[in-house]
Amino acid sequence: MNAATMPPIRTEVASAAEPLLDIRDLTRHYRVSRGWLQPAVDVVALGGVSFSLAAGEALAVVGESGCGKSTLARAVTLVEPPTSGTLRLAGTDVVGASAEQLRALRPQVQMVFQNPYASLNPRKRVAQMLDEPLLLNTTLTGAERRERVAAMLDQVGLRPEFAERYPHMFSGGQRQRIAIARAMMLGPRLLVADEPTSALDVSIQAQILNLFMALRERTGMAYLFISHNLGVVEHIADRVLVMYLGRVVEQAPKAQLFAAPTHPYTRALLAASPTLDARRAAAHVPILGEPPSPLNPPSGCAFHKRCPHAQDRCVQERPELRRIGTDAEAPADQCHLVACHLVEELGA
Ligand code: SF4
Repeated sequence: MNAATMPPIRTEVASAAEPLLDIRDLTRHYRVSRGWLQPAVDVVALGGVSFSLAAGEALAVVGESGCGKSTLARAVTLVEPPTSGTLRLAGTDVVGASAEQLRALRPQVQMVFQNPYASLNPRKRVAQMLDEPLLLNTTLTGAERRERVAAMLDQVGLRPEFAERYPHMFSGGQRQRIAIARAMMLGPRLLVADEPTSALDVSIQAQILNLFMALRERTGMAYLFISHNLGVVEHIADRVLVMYLGRVVEQAPKAQLFAAPTHPYTRALLAASPTLDARRAAAHVPILGEPPSPLNPPSGCAFHKRCPHAQDRCVQERPELRRIGTDAEAPADQCHLVACHLVEELGA
C-alpha cells in the first residue's frame, strides 16, 4: 500500500451540508490571582468568536501574541473547554459531548506546534513516534503499522531509513516534517498549525508551507493556520481572520483581505509583514506600541490606544463586526466583515 492509497481513519462524518467546524460566540475566561489583598479577576482570552470552516478549507487566524489565537487553537483541539458558546466539530457539539464522544473526535483534529525542537521526544526514534497513535487508536497489525509509517514518511518527503533515527539527528525543517507526519498518522480531517514555520530559517519556511499545501491537495484535510505574520498566510489560506485582544476585528476571503485591508490593525499588520510588493509596503503605517494587557483591557474599541484614526466614539463604544462591500446575499463566513466605527471613512 503506498501513500496515495493509504485509507484515512474516520470516527464520525459530518453531513455534506454541515461545516467541519462551526464556532458561535465562543468565549474563554481565566481566573487570575493578583496577589495578597487584591481580588482575583476574570481575564477574557476569547471574547465571543464566531466562524465556520468547511471540509478541505484553509483558514488563517492572524494577530500578535495575546490576541487569543492560541486559546482558540486549544479549544478547537479539545485541550481546553470554552467558558461559553458552541463549538461543533464534525457534527458533534463538543461542549456537551460525553467522554466517549470526545475520545472518538480527537483523532479527527490534530495539532502541529511552533517549535519542532521541543515537540518531539528526544528519547524516541521516529518510527516509534509515528507508530504510537496507530498502536493506541487502531487494531492494525505490526506489519500494517510499519507500512503506514513508511508511507507517511514518504508523504512528508523523508527517506524510509530516517525511521530508525532520533530527533537530534535532524535539521529544524526535517523535525517539523516529522511532527507533521505524526499529526497525520490517524488521518485527521482538521490540522491546527500553531505558528508552524516561525521557529525555522526563512529558506526552510517556504518548503514547509509547500508541504502543507501538497498534503491538503492529496488528503482534502482542512487547516486552521495560526500566525502572527500575514505574509506567511498569504500563501496557504483561503480565508483570513484577524484577531485583536480576544475578538475578531476583520474577516474575509484571502484575495479580498489582501486587496482591500480595511481595519487599521490589519493594515498595520500588513505594513509589518515582509513583502516584495513595494506599493503594499508603502501603503500602510506600521503598528505603534504594544498590545494592551488583557488584565486591563481598554474601553470601547480595544485598538483605540494604537489607532491613528481613533475618535471619542472609539474610546466609549465597542464596534461590532459588520459586513462591508456589496454582496449582501453571501453567507457571513464568505463576506468581508470588519469591526471599526470608521469603515466608510477609511474606505476599502
Ligand atoms: Fe480605530 Fe476607532 Fe476603528 Fe477602533 S473603531 S479601529 S479606534 S477607527
